[in-house]
Amino acid sequence: NVFDLKVLSYEEVVNAIRSNDPHRFLFTIETYPEYGKYHWTGHRSCHVSLPPEEARRIGNICPVCHKKLTKGVDQRVDELADRPKGFRPEGVPGYKHLLPLSEIIQTVLGVSYPGAQSIWKVYNSLIRRFGNEYTVLLEAPLSELAKVVDVSIVDAVIRVREERVKVIPGYDGIYGEIRLHDEERKNIREDLRHKLKGNRREQRSLADYM
Ligand SMILES: [Zn+2]
Repeated sequence: NVFDLKVLSYEEVVNAIRSNDPHRFLFTIETYPEYGKYHWTGHRSCHVSLPPEEARRIGNICPVCHKKLTKGVDQRVDELADRPKGFRPEGVPGYKHLLPLSEIIQTVLGVSYPGAQSIWKVYNSLIRRFGNEYTVLLEAPLSELAKVVDVSIVDAVIRVREERVKVIPGYDGIYGEIRLHDEERKNIREDLRHKLKGNRREQRSLADYM
């Protein structure tokens, strides 16, 4: 959580949390829920991935193999929900959505292997200059970023800050995917091939990139 307090005493932090005061408690950081491995309902081997409404409409049965689909988190939440989608109680601070920096770089470079040197070269140059992912993604001045990395990376950071990033929802054990531009559909066949070999990306928590 990000606080806007002049003097951060323990008591003030607790008070800011308790009061949920949007002026003191600016926003909560979370990753895109779609990025999770089980967001939508689907079948990995059948390449079927469906939002809750559509999965329900076909009785949660896979149109390819006719077996039961693996139900995603979104559908489970949907079934439990007692409030409309996107509902946010008044006065509650907003959310900032972040994504792992290395995977943003990977998307920009269009590299399929997450361990590729080209990714980590850019990553390390940013961390060396700004200290951590949080600063790179939220605070570093764009002009300073541009001195360290290519403009395409700066553009991606702008998109993350403005939440102009699309995440293709994960399903049945497959992670969601970052889309910075729609024209990246050309990589879909390559992505599919990569997925078929098994997606070995590790589960990341926010703690890994803060
Ligand atoms: Zn199936």
